[in-house]
Amino acid sequence: MKREKAVMDNCIFCKIIEHKIPAQIVYEDEKAMAFRDLNPQAPLHVLVIPKKHIPTTLDIAKEDNELVGHLFQIANKIAEENGIAGRGFRLVMNTNPESGQSVYHIHLHVLGGRLMHWPPG
Ligand code: 5GP
Ligand code: ZN
Repeated sequence: MKREKAVMDNCIFCKIIEHKIPAQIVYEDEKAMAFRDLNPQAPLHVLVIPKKHIPTTLDIAKEDNELVGHLFQIANKIAEENGIAGRGFRLVMNTNPESGQSVYHIHLHVLGGRLMHWPPG
């Protein structure tokens, strides 16, 4: 995959994709990767990301529709493999500052293994 160097150099998740910084990777294919969150908020907290650098959900183009669906398929597989699919889990994608987005490369949080509260904080 062709990657733009300036983007990679400034994005922590692009660096994880390039194996330039370590992560506990739980899934990887040609288009996506999943790894454990550095600061887990639940017994299972995995981030599923596209290898394509997309800064926020607002930047998801029509051509990315299949890719974004793929992220959800991976999230489901991770929940199933960890035995929490039937119990329940939460998928979250934050967008922009008020949501708490801190890394500007879209990522699907897979949170589970404990009772989730609603509304979220
Ligand atoms: P956001 O706040 O953008 O929705 O989520 C970013 C997430 O990335 C946070 O939960 C944070 O703990 C996680 N994170 C930030 N830097 C790293 C890192 O270098 N490695 C890993 N594994 N997770 C990270
Ligand atoms: Zn990136």
